[in-house]
Amino acid sequence: MVNTEPLSEYKIMELLAQIPDPDIPVVSIVELGIVRDVQVDDASKVTVTITPTYSGCPAMSVFKEDIRETLLKNGAKEVDIKISFTPAWTTDWLSESTRYKMRKHGIAPPETNSSDPVALFSSGKQKIKCPHCSKTDTNLTSQFGSTPCKAIWFCNSCNQPFEYFKCY
Ligand SMILES: [Zn+2]
Repeated sequence: MVNTEPLSEYKIMELLAQIPDPDIPVVSIVELGIVRDVQVDDASKVTVTITPTYSGCPAMSVFKEDIRETLLKNGAKEVDIKISFTPAWTTDWLSESTRYKMRKHGIAPPETNSSDPVALFSSGKQKIKCPHCSKTDTNLTSQFGSTPCKAIWFCNSCNQPFEYFKCY
């Protein structure tokens, strides 16, 4: 079936909202606030501006391909993906419903946007709230979880491990 309807920016956002974040598949890249801007011209050339949550995130190349593929399949003639680091991604871009979804799936959403989160981590001062029971009696188990953007924490209150999404 040929899609003859011209792509609108709204439609593009709808398509992008179906792409799961490679690190947190329960939320889409739009929910995560990675997609900052979309533009489409008369020739169906699409420009997508994204801001990564984590500058060294290897998942970036994965979802760049996902974006390109999804849009080309749905009528885009050309897809240009721009990466913008300014303004930097902040946890403020996560909506309450996105945070809720993450907690529901046992992933603690980022809690702080300290300018030096690594120092906070290594000093052991940062306490992450357990997504299961909301207690803060938690310990860092491993700096890297199933993907480099997540760390494994353990909750001493409910004796369950959980993943913490790192935002740097
Ligand atoms: Zn707990």
